Amino acid sequence: MYPRPFTYHRAASLKDAAATLAELGPEAKLLAGGQSLVPLMKLRLSSPAALIDVGHIQGLNYIRAENGAFRIGALARHTDMAQSAAARHVPILHDCAAGIADVQVRNWGTVVGSIAEADPTGDWAPVLLVLDTEVECLANHGRRSLGLAGFIQDAFTTALRPGEVMQELRVKATERGSGGCYLAFKRCAPVYASASVAVQLALEGATCRQARVALGAVALTPVVATESAKALEGSDLNAKSIARAAEAAAASCEPPCDGRGSTEYKRALIRKLFTQAVNVAARRARGESVEVSHHYA
Ligand SMILES: Cc1cc2nc3c(=O)[nH]c(=O)nc-3n(C[C@H](O)[C@H](O)[C@H](O)COP(=O)(O)OP(=O)(O)OC[C@H]3O[C@@H](n4cnc5c(N)ncnc54)[C@H](O)[C@@H]3O)c2cc1C
Repeated sequence: MYPRPFTYHRAASLKDAAATLAELGPEAKLLAGGQSLVPLMKLRLSSPAALIDVGHIQGLNYIRAENGAFRIGALARHTDMAQSAAARHVPILHDCAAGIADVQVRNWGTVVGSIAEADPTGDWAPVLLVLDTEVECLANHGRRSLGLAGFIQDAFTTALRPGEVMQELRVKATERGSGGCYLAFKRCAPVYASASVAVQLALEGATCRQARVALGAVALTPVVATESAKALEGSDLNAKSIARAAEAAAASCEPPCDGRGSTEYKRALIRKLFTQAVNVAARRARGESVEVSHHYA
C-alpha cells in the first residue's frame, strides 16, 4: 500500500528540525532511518501530514566516550553501535545491536529512533534501562535531560513534548568487575522478540554486589524487574539464587497472550533467558570474553 500524501522537509541541523517541528505542529514527524516509520506509513497505521528528514544531517552518527559516559548521537545506526568501541567495552550493547533484524535494518535504523518509537517489543529499551541512560532533548526554547525510565511512558508513547527532538543518549560507562548480557527469543531474524531479558551485574568475588534486570516484549512498556534484581544482590551466584531470581522476573510481568505465544509460554521464556543471561553476565563480569546469540525458533 502507498502512504497517504505528505510534505517533505529536509532539516539542515537538529535545531532546524526542532524549529520546523514547532512550526508544523503535531501532524509532522521526524524521519531518521525510516525502519519503523516508513513501514507504518505504508500500512497506513501512521499518516503524518509532513516528514522532517534528519537523516542527511552531518556529524550525528557519533558514539564517543566522554566524562565517564558514552554519547550516542541521533543518527548512530545499529551497525555503528555493533562496530563501536563502546560495544567492545560494554558487551550488552553489542548483544543488542548485532541481534536486530537483518543487515539492511541495522544499516539504516538508529538507536535513538528505536527509543523514540517506544515499541514494547523493541530491543534497545531493556538494554539501556539496565545501564544508566539519560535522554538529551532539544527544542526551540532550550534543552533538557531525562532518565530513560521516565522517558518511556507507554506503548509507542514518550515524554517528548511538542516541538522537541532527541539529540543524543548518554549511557554511563560500566565499572570494572561488572558485566551484562541481553538475550531475546525471536521467531526468526527479521522479527521483533517474543520475550527478552537484559541483565547487568557487578560482582565482588562470588557475591553479586549490584544487579539490574529489565524485560522486553512482555508488557506495554519494558519492565524493570526490581524484585528479581534484589533476589540476586548480596547473594552468591549459584543455581539456587539464580532460580529464585528467575522466578521473581517471571512473576514481575503479565505478558499478553498473542500470536507470539501464551502468557505462560512467555513467562517460561523469561525464566530460561534470564538464567542464561545471568550466567553470561557473571562470566563477563569476571573478565571472560563470551559471545552470545539470540534464540530463534
Ligand atoms: C523488518 C524489520 C525488522 C525489525 N526488527 C527489529 C528488532 O528485532 N528489534 C528492534 O528493536 N527493532 C527492529 N526493527 C526496527 C528498527 O530497529 C528501527 O531502526 C528502529 O525502531 C527505528 O529507528 P529509525 O532510525 O529507523 O527511526 P524512524 O523509523 O525514522 O523513526 C521512528 C520514530 O522515531 C522518531 N524519531 C526518529 N528520530 C528521532 C529524534 N532524533 N527525535 C525524536 N524522534 C525521533 C520518528 O519521528 C518516528 O516516530 C525492525 C524494523 C524492520 C523494518
